[in-house]
Amino acid sequence: MYIQQITIDINAKADKDELIDEFGLLMSFYRGSGQTQGRIESQYIENENIVCFPFTLEKNSLDKKINNFYVNKQIDKIEKRCNSKLTFKTVGKTYNSYKTPCNCKKSDFYILITNYITIQSPLTCGTCNKSVPLYRLPPYYDYGYMPILSWERNYISCDSLQMNGEVGERWALNQMQEITSQLSKQGLEICRKIEELTSIPTYYYLHNYKKFKGDQITRPCPSCSRKWDMKTQLHNLYDFKCDKCKIISTISPNA
Ligand SMILES: [Zn+2]
Ligand SMILES: [Zn+2]
Repeated sequence: MYIQQITIDINAKADKDELIDEFGLLMSFYRGSGQTQGRIESQYIENENIVCFPFTLEKNSLDKKINNFYVNKQIDKIEKRCNSKLTFKTVGKTYNSYKTPCNCKKSDFYILITNYITIQSPLTCGTCNKSVPLYRLPPYYDYGYMPILSWERNYISCDSLQMNGEVGERWALNQMQEITSQLSKQGLEICRKIEELTSIPTYYYLHNYKKFKGDQITRPCPSCSRKWDMKTQLHNLYDFKCDKCKIISTISPNA
């Protein structure tokens, strides 16, 4: 992933604390437009200068061409109040080897998947197994992708509960691994809509930490009860895939 630096000089008499809040709002609009990853960026003010370091999937994720209505409006507001222009610079990468997210001409399918620790896109490419920047999809809702990101937050909240234990662990785990849970329903609806927008089949990742006895490969799809084991494991991760229900899963490490 890339780390970008966004800076603005305050060349006007303005309430600096208010400007920082406006800057924070711009960061949340960038997130909603799919241009930045994760939720909290390092942001600081020093003298007449506000600086922020968001993560992005591509070097040019903050390109003006990708901005949506809300991002443009907020940039305009901040630049007017500061009487100066925002400046952008790529300052580094999270890994030396990192190059790009998914660059497939056309993905065979997408997977909606996240976990408590990642800041990658919640949408991955089934062909190359890399992140798909949300801004590559047509706008999902109100110029951006907030409903997808809201599912992502819900999933991360459940995964955090089950990782921490003690509070709601069993409930959270069931949200993640039961196909009929509220979390899965929300995720499946998102998959259907992404499919509608992109014409690319979109699979829902169903977590699996159940205690199964015996050979789990014989376990049927939890939705349609058909055989859904894959002949060979996909991307060193997925063992089950139902093309009818569009769900994808793994062998439980807890068997
Ligand atoms: Zn790809
Ligand atoms: Zn099925």
